[in-house]
Amino acid sequence: MKHSNIALVTGANKGIGLQIAKELANHGLTVLLGARDPGRGAAAAKEAGRSARAVQLDVTDTGSITAAAEWIRGTFGRLDVLVNNAGISHSPAPDASFEDVIAAGRPSAAPLDEVRTVFEVNVFGVLAVTQAMLPLLREAPAGRIVNVSSEVGSLTRQADPSNPYRMANAPYSPSKSALNALTVALANELESTRIKVNAVCPGFTATDLNKFRGPRTVEQGAVAAVRYALIGEDGPNGGFFNEDGPLPW
Ligand code: NAP
Repeated sequence: MKHSNIALVTGANKGIGLQIAKELANHGLTVLLGARDPGRGAAAAKEAGRSARAVQLDVTDTGSITAAAEWIRGTFGRLDVLVNNAGISHSPAPDASFEDVIAAGRPSAAPLDEVRTVFEVNVFGVLAVTQAMLPLLREAPAGRIVNVSSEVGSLTRQADPSNPYRMANAPYSPSKSALNALTVALANELESTRIKVNAVCPGFTATDLNKFRGPRTVEQGAVAAVRYALIGEDGPNGGFFNEDGPLPW
């Protein structure tokens, strides 16, 4: 049986990931919504459209990642697009304000376990999922990997005193800098293949991640990820972009 292009979006049960999934489905792709919780994944897939399906995927759980890759191989035989969207800014802290969370992440005070927890999802989780999905992406005629990063991971911007969004935060912004470094390393390794790898920034978007403080909508936040998931042969490899164009590393 011939399938339309297949996309996997991690952390797609809500927020920017769900919006990316909806838009890729609208572009005619079969979209697999990665979700830690199968029930919430199934509900999101229903919302994302008829071509959408949920897949249980915790990016910190090797067994879950392996099972998802095996299911995709058995069902579709390949993967055309991987959007590494799942991310956290801190451990669950339902009663803490956004300001409290930022303050608790100061490099002088952030508990190492907290830093490790964020890196586990935002960096090691991305690498683990990418390694598991690469054999499937190599089967595709034009594999695409989009890492959902953040401008706060830009060392150039973080070191600029005139930048109002500079952060003094140990877990989150360094995790996105590391993700950017991984993006470049992987793009370098894959440059002679048909696969292209890029990082994107959604902008400060109202989601659970920031207790809905961001001014942007999920529709705006999804623009760059969808664009770089769908680039053609002439598209970039190893870049960092928002919807307005290239960002500095
Ligand atoms: P969100 O609404 O909190 O969504 C995050 C998603 O990641 C959820 O589906 C969550 O699942 C999932 N997730 C968390 N840990 C996971 C794990 N171990 N395995 C699999 N999935 C996991 O946040 P968002 O704003 O849409 O964030 C999406 C991406 O955009 C993140 O990478 C974030 O860093 C990036 N970003 C966001 C902003 C912004 O302003 N919002 C700005 C720049 C970059 P659960 O529901 O199970 O927790």
